[in-house]
Amino acid sequence: MKLSQMYIPTLKEDPANADVVSHKLMLRSGMMRKLGSGIYTFLPLGQRVINKFQAIVKEEMNNSGAQEVLLPALQPAELWSESGRLENYGPELMRLNDRHEREFCLGPTHEEVITDLVRDEVRSYKDLPINLYQIQTKYRDEIRPRFGVLRSREFIMKDAYSFDIDEAGLEESYNDMYDAYERIFDRCGLEYRAVKADTGTIGGDDSHEFMVLADAGEDTVVYCDSCDYAANLELATAKVEAEKADEELEELELVDTPNSSTIAELMSELDLAAEKMIKAVLYENDEQVVLALVRGDYEVNEIKLSNLFDVVNIELAAEDKYEELDTVKGYTGPVNLDDVEVIADELVMKVVNGVTGANQREKHYLNVNPGRDFEVDQVADIRTVKEGETCPECGGTLEQTPGIEVGQVFKLGTKYSEALDATFLDENGKPQPLVMGCYGIGITRTIAAAIEQNHDDYGIKWPTALAPFTVHLLPLGGGDDVENKAQELYQTLNEAGVEVLLDDRNERAGVKFNDADLIGSPIRITIGSRSLSDGELEVKLRQSDEEMNIDADNSIAEIK
Ligand code: ATP
Ligand code: MG
Ligand code: MG
Ligand code: MG
Repeated sequence: MKLSQMYIPTLKEDPANADVVSHKLMLRSGMMRKLGSGIYTFLPLGQRVINKFQAIVKEEMNNSGAQEVLLPALQPAELWSESGRLENYGPELMRLNDRHEREFCLGPTHEEVITDLVRDEVRSYKDLPINLYQIQTKYRDEIRPRFGVLRSREFIMKDAYSFDIDEAGLEESYNDMYDAYERIFDRCGLEYRAVKADTGTIGGDDSHEFMVLADAGEDTVVYCDSCDYAANLELATAKVEAEKADEELEELELVDTPNSSTIAELMSELDLAAEKMIKAVLYENDEQVVLALVRGDYEVNEIKLSNLFDVVNIELAAEDKYEELDTVKGYTGPVNLDDVEVIADELVMKVVNGVTGANQREKHYLNVNPGRDFEVDQVADIRTVKEGETCPECGGTLEQTPGIEVGQVFKLGTKYSEALDATFLDENGKPQPLVMGCYGIGITRTIAAAIEQNHDDYGIKWPTALAPFTVHLLPLGGGDDVENKAQELYQTLNEAGVEVLLDDRNERAGVKFNDADLIGSPIRITIGSRSLSDGELEVKLRQSDEEMNIDADNSIAEIK
């Protein structure tokens, strides 16, 4: 392709409201544009990367025996009632009505639809096992869409669903998917870990998440330095905290002061183990800044900040905290949560751990003075498993690192087949519920995660498997020789099946070099008049920064 003819609107400056590298670079390199909160348009460059990754995913899915289908995104709400998730999925489910006021939702995931499909078609054990997958747009009304396509409200997912006659069959299907996932992420050159995961609301017995290790990750991977134990932090915390939780639970249920109804309700709704896993998020709704307490993916309560202060009646030693919050309230754009999160975190700690400073029950949430009544650091320790803790499996030492969940495999068992009455006839002619597994990969999230792992100050450094173009041809100066050589190389590379982007724009060298770095093709070939007259072309490898000169007449062979 020729850059002059492609729609690749690159940006010189970092866009506002992009907090993480991948978000910035996807906008700057012209891969995508934002349409609304958590909604993105993919431009030609971005679409090429999506196609690359999808091809890899499809190849590995097909090789593992899964078959591609395409399920509807628009789903009748009755189906979700059948599984119980119309209620349980919560506000993340995008709901809508048609012109006859019939209820629908936009699929955040497809267990219901796929189970409905097979319950009508699969009759006998002889039809099993089957594994069906699709690559499709998913909708989730995320409480806080952020970081570009790392957490968006419309995103592309590959989701596969396996159906077996028994647990042993499921085990095999699960392992096949697990292996396919390893091949997929290996092929993309990603540094990742498969970790044991909480099965959350999808339900089921066994699950692994595939975590790309990167600082921008919202998850924390806890792993052992001496065995292969690895878990996400929530699961690890749950294990370590399990014993402590029971003792402390009682104290927290005692909150009952005249002013504290909001907090009291919250406390009674939750058990302590869950509270310790609560994440605090501050965000703006239409009227105000709200502190939301989130357990796993689900918002469990919203507290107006003003109420929170009243109820908890925290003696704010540092009054500037109020000021900071006022600043946030007065802010009309998307809240920059990084600064505020610290405050939110402290507030939650005070709420959750406000058992301090007094023996009388009703005093527990009154006049608490962090620092005097409890050490904030100590409180933080309760909520997280720190590096250095003991491995629950081998007694080794745990390490931790941030991770981006790019995929997850679940053993669902018969949860959905029982709810939706999806059965097959076994060898004795007896009806049995199908034994299911489900397997997701975030297509757009993985692409962003790949950028998180592969970039420098100047732009993206695409792993070859995902690169929109392999070669970036950069003619300089525009003399006839240079021009001819560029055209010749462009043609020969194309004919050889090498994906090449020719920067044929009439731009300054600086602009061209900057865009080449930004777009991040693995091989950059510069055709300058001086080196060309010496019979040479300059090659730079984006990943390693390695530079070399190659023979201008024999260049194709060398590039290949
Ligand atoms: P998270 O914990 O980050 O919210 P999830 O566990 O809810 O993700 P799954 O239901 O396991 O996500 O969906 C399968 C995959 O879809 C995830 O592993 C992730 O790669 C991708 N995914 C989920 N939510 C989003 C989102 N909001 N934006 C982009 N990709 C997503
Ligand atoms: Mg989620
Ligand atoms: Mg998750
Ligand atoms: Mg998940």
